[in-house]
Amino acid sequence: MKGYESSTILCMGTVVTQLVHGKRAKKAISLVNRALRQMEAHWSFHLRSSLLSKLNLAAGVRPVKVSSDLLSMLALGKELSVRTCGAFDITVGPLVKEWASCLDSGRIPADARIQELLPLVNANDIEIDRGRRTAFLPKLGQAVDLGGIAKGYAADRALEIYRDLDIPSAVINLGGNVFALGSKANGERWRVGIHDPVAQQGRPVIVLEVAGKSVVTSGGYERFAVVDGKAYHHLLDPRTGYPAYTDLLSATVVGDTSAVADGLATALAVLGSARAADALEEYSGFEAVLVTADKTVLVTPGLMGSAVPVSPEATVAPISKLR
Ligand code: ADP
Ligand code: MG
Repeated sequence: MKGYESSTILCMGTVVTQLVHGKRAKKAISLVNRALRQMEAHWSFHLRSSLLSKLNLAAGVRPVKVSSDLLSMLALGKELSVRTCGAFDITVGPLVKEWASCLDSGRIPADARIQELLPLVNANDIEIDRGRRTAFLPKLGQAVDLGGIAKGYAADRALEIYRDLDIPSAVINLGGNVFALGSKANGERWRVGIHDPVAQQGRPVIVLEVAGKSVVTSGGYERFAVVDGKAYHHLLDPRTGYPAYTDLLSATVVGDTSAVADGLATALAVLGSARAADALEEYSGFEAVLVTADKTVLVTPGLMGSAVPVSPEATVAPISKLR
């Protein structure tokens, strides 16, 4: 795009692109990329040397000193779990691990194993000591997985860096986790497409026109494995221990904080359209677009002016937040 510096890197398990306008665009891009790599090293669930792994390996044993970033993510994770009635839960780690290792070898976990792991999933258990800057997972085998909020948190950090450098206009996209700073240099709003999850070409069903907002999409269609003809995706219902099957193909959340939008989008995808409104009611200022299996696109009233339908098969209907 004219007048913009751009960058594409692989980080946090996804493709991260930036478009940045302004005199200090190059500097902003390199600072953001450096910060992203650092966050990836700290928060990785798989890397044994990560700060997060230190916390997980000490579960049931002792509290661990954590960075202020990790402390805020743990606090946000706890809050999201309470406000989404457990549909979002960062202590889903043991289940994520079990499902991943079974699906990798072409099978699904035994139900007895799932039932054994379920009592370990409860974000309320996480003990945070702000004074000592420590966190503690009290039960042996408990594990935090930040996959549902890390990209959002990283987008928020990128925005801080842009603002510190007085960048007037920029957009960062971490694998579908978008944050737009300001409008485009020509004054138009940014257009963020929400893709039709089942169409071959990933054609958008709807386009959101936004300025100064984060747009985050979550959906089971993104990552899944097939066993005996059935698809098992990466969004787990922490209350049952199984992938969450709902009437939603995807859930998109728009708001001022990408970390919250990220967690909330995951929660809505887990909850389904009937219960999504309850969770949205908890988060005033956040709007949503839900794409249902029958191609009805449900949009909260606050987005009606910025959602542009582009697919002829899609019908757009409002969802009302229960206030
Ligand atoms: P993506 O990372 O594919 O954009 P999400 O933001 O929805 O998708 O996060 C999904 C990731 O979060 C999963 O890969 C897993 O690590 C973790 N996760 C899965 N289910 C839940 C859940 N119910 N609550 C919190 N985290 C979850
Ligand atoms: Mg998420």
